Amino acid sequence: MKKHISVIMVCMLSVILSGCNNMLDQGKELLFANKEVTQSVFAMDTYMTITAYGPNAEEAVKESVAEINRLDTLLSTGKETSEITKVNQNHGGKISQDTAFLWKKSREIFEKTDGAFDVTIYPIMKAWGFAGGGFHVPAKEEIEYLLSHVNSGRVQYVETNRQLSLPQGMELDFGGIAKGYTSQRIVEIMKEHQVKNSMINLGGNVQLLGTKPDGSLYRVAVKNPENDGSYLGIIEESDKAVITSGGYERFFEEDGELYHHIIDPKTGYPAKSGLSSVTIVSSDATLADALSTALFVMGKENAVDFWRENSDSFDAVLCLDSGDIWITKGLEKSFVTEKSVKVIDKE
Ligand code: ADP
Ligand code: MG
Repeated sequence: MKKHISVIMVCMLSVILSGCNNMLDQGKELLFANKEVTQSVFAMDTYMTITAYGPNAEEAVKESVAEINRLDTLLSTGKETSEITKVNQNHGGKISQDTAFLWKKSREIFEKTDGAFDVTIYPIMKAWGFAGGGFHVPAKEEIEYLLSHVNSGRVQYVETNRQLSLPQGMELDFGGIAKGYTSQRIVEIMKEHQVKNSMINLGGNVQLLGTKPDGSLYRVAVKNPENDGSYLGIIEESDKAVITSGGYERFFEEDGELYHHIIDPKTGYPAKSGLSSVTIVSSDATLADALSTALFVMGKENAVDFWRENSDSFDAVLCLDSGDIWITKGLEKSFVTEKSVKVIDKE
């Protein structure tokens, strides 16, 4: 009889203990489900911060940082041993899958934007000192001569063996699109690790995966191009890239004039289009990066026409030199500001 009672008690105890274990496991799961991992890294000439949530966040962030460094080493014109430097030195060659993806996308956007986005801009970037250092205004003749080497339409590319050939004097610079592609790659890595919530900030180029862990929208500030630390407004979004280009980001002064790093490929001079910043919101980060540069070059009127023809693939915030802010229709709800804004409609 005593033996029976003690067997029953042991059984009851183990049921209680396994119940406790289950509760502990559930507690652990809850804790790790919202586990936040953040890491910062300096690459591609800028500070980058990656934040991810969930049980696999640590591994996913670690792999993302490795991917940033891999792409920096591959695509940086400033690195002697990068693939892009070798391609530029050898007038082409067999290119990696990443470079091939970027070339094809750049070429497509070059066509679509009527040449406002042109990755063969590199000789001009060097002439101004934006690449390689030594900021100065180049002579008119030098710009004219170098412009004869700027034209993505003259690059040959054969897909079957990923062979690229550049005419003599032509050189590539993916500076206007590489960060967008990098954040797109990071989202792919996050998804491979079943990460559902992440915010990737590559020096102001922001990419969102999902929402915040509590289900609320991420809030991305759009800087005032006056560069005074204030904001034009906040974009409340999920699952989108929010990418800004502005002349205020990199510039130098000579004889009282400011010269910035976004070049109009038609003139070889910093674009003076009447826009002081362009923010693109899109689920395609690579496209968003290239378009932020392209629309800045185009100016407001052409940018509005371009959006009307492509409004299914992106939205935009345009800030004019006058300070006026225009937003495309799709951002009416997500762009939150106390300033007055005008809405660009489809018609
Ligand atoms: P940031 O790099 O500051 O985020 P952008 O995305 O606008 O700004 O990229 C600017 C870079 O793009 C320049 O540093 C240069 O490498 C490249 N670039 C400049 N003008 C053009 C252009 N018209 N088309 C393509 N790339 C450009
Ligand atoms: Mg860009």
